[in-house]
Amino acid sequence: MNQTYDAIVIGAGVMGGSIAYNLSQRGLKVLILERQTIAVGATGASSGLVRMHYDVEVDSALAWESFHYFKNWRERVGGECGFTRTGFLQIVKPAMNEQLRGNVAMQQRLGILTEVVTAEEVKKLAPMFKTDDFDLAAYEPESGYADPTSVTNSFINHAKARGSVLLIDCEVTGIRVSGGKVLGVDSSRGRRPEHVEGSFDAPIVVNCAGTFAGRIAKLVDVDIPIDTWSHDVAFVNRPAKVGMHPTVIDDSLGMYFRPEGVHTLIGLEDYNRMGEPPESELGHVSPEFITHAIDRICARIEGMEEGSLHSTHVGRDGITPDQKAVIDQAGPDGFYVACGFSGTGFKLSPAVGVCVAELILDGSAKLVNISSLKLDRFARGELLKGEYSYGHIWR
Ligand SMILES: Cc1cc2nc3c(=O)[nH]c(=O)nc-3n(C[C@H](O)[C@H](O)[C@H](O)COP(=O)(O)OP(=O)(O)OC[C@H]3O[C@@H](n4cnc5c(N)ncnc54)[C@H](O)[C@@H]3O)c2cc1C
Repeated sequence: MNQTYDAIVIGAGVMGGSIAYNLSQRGLKVLILERQTIAVGATGASSGLVRMHYDVEVDSALAWESFHYFKNWRERVGGECGFTRTGFLQIVKPAMNEQLRGNVAMQQRLGILTEVVTAEEVKKLAPMFKTDDFDLAAYEPESGYADPTSVTNSFINHAKARGSVLLIDCEVTGIRVSGGKVLGVDSSRGRRPEHVEGSFDAPIVVNCAGTFAGRIAKLVDVDIPIDTWSHDVAFVNRPAKVGMHPTVIDDSLGMYFRPEGVHTLIGLEDYNRMGEPPESELGHVSPEFITHAIDRICARIEGMEEGSLHSTHVGRDGITPDQKAVIDQAGPDGFYVACGFSGTGFKLSPAVGVCVAELILDGSAKLVNISSLKLDRFARGELLKGEYSYGHIWR
C-alpha cells in the first residue's frame, strides 16, 4: 500500500523548504522528496543577498515581507538564518537615474526603508568606493545577506517537527493523475521491483524542482518555458586597509558584491551560461569571469588591487524569458509550481512559502498579490516588466 500524505513537495531547496514549512504550520502532513540532498541546487550556491530593490513591484513586495522573517528569524521560524546587516546600495548608470527614482518611490509606497542617495553620499557611506562613474544609488540601511543553507535547514527542521517527512536520494519520476486530479507520485525508490515503497499518494503536489522544474511539469503535460542559468562566483581576500563595505548591486560596472568575513564575494551580471542541461556537471568558473570580476572590483574599491583570489564556485538556477518566477496552479487539480526564480529567489523564499500555502489552502495568496507570476503570461506574450525597467539583469 502506498504511503499517504496531505501534500508532496518536490525538491528540498529553499523554496521546497519554505513551502513545506508553511503547509505544515497550517496543519498538513507534508512529504518532501529530494533527488540528492538538502540545498544541493541553486540554494547551496546562492550568494545570499537580502535586499528589496527590484524594478517589478511583486518582487519588492515579496522581498519586503520576507525581510521581516530574516530580521526576526528565531521568533518567526526558529534556528538560524545567518542574517548580517551590512547596508545595501543599488548603483545605476546615469542613463538609469529616472528608473532608479521611480523604483525607490514604488518601494517607499510599500513601506520599504530605502532612499535615493548621491555619489557624494555614497562616498560618505563607503569611503573606499570610487564614485566618479555614477550620479545616484538607492540605499537600504537595513539590508545585507543571509545564509541560504541554514535558512533551508531551518524551514525543513521545523516542518519535520510538525510531522512532515523528508526523503533524500529520492527522485520523482512520475506523477499519477486520474480524472484531471493529482493522485500522487512515483519515485526512484520504486524502480527495483522488490522496492514497493517508491510510490506516495497525496492530492497536492508542489513542483519546486529548480532547474528540473520544466521536466517535472512535463510529467503532467504542463509546459514551463524554463531554461538554466549557470553563474560564477568568486571570493577575494580583502586587504585589511579596505575595511568593511556594504552589500552592493553595481549596475554601472555589471556586478554585485558583498562582504563575507575577511573576503569579498563577487558575481557578474554578464558571462553567465544559459541552457546547460540541469543534470550536467557545474564545472569551473570561466577564466574571463575571473579577469572581469577582479578588474571590476578594483575599479570600484580603492586598495583592492592588493587583494588576491581566495576561491570560486559555480551555481545554477532556473530562468524564465522575463527572468521572473512562476508561481501558479497549472495542469491537473492539485498540481502547483513555484520555480524559475532566475537567480534572485533566495531573499523571496519566506514570503513565497506563505503565498503558496495560501494559494493551495485558501484559493489565492493574501500576503502578496502574486497573480502577475502566473504561467499563462508566456503563452499570452505578456512578459512581466516593471514600469521603470532596468531591462534583463542577467546576460
Ligand atoms: C550562484 C547563485 C547565486 C545566487 N545569489 C542569490 C542572491 O544573492 N540572492 C537571492 O535572493 N538569490 C540568489 N540566487 C537565486 C536563489 O539561490 C535561487 O533562486 C533559489 O535558491 C531557488 O531555490 P529553489 O528551491 O527553487 O531551487 P533549488 O535550490 O535548485 O532546489 C531544487 C531542488 O529540487 C531537487 N530536484 C530536482 N528534480 C527533482 C526530482 N525529480 N525529484 C526530487 N527532487 C528534485 C534538486 O535536487 C534541488 O535540490 C542565486 C543563485 C545562484 C545559482
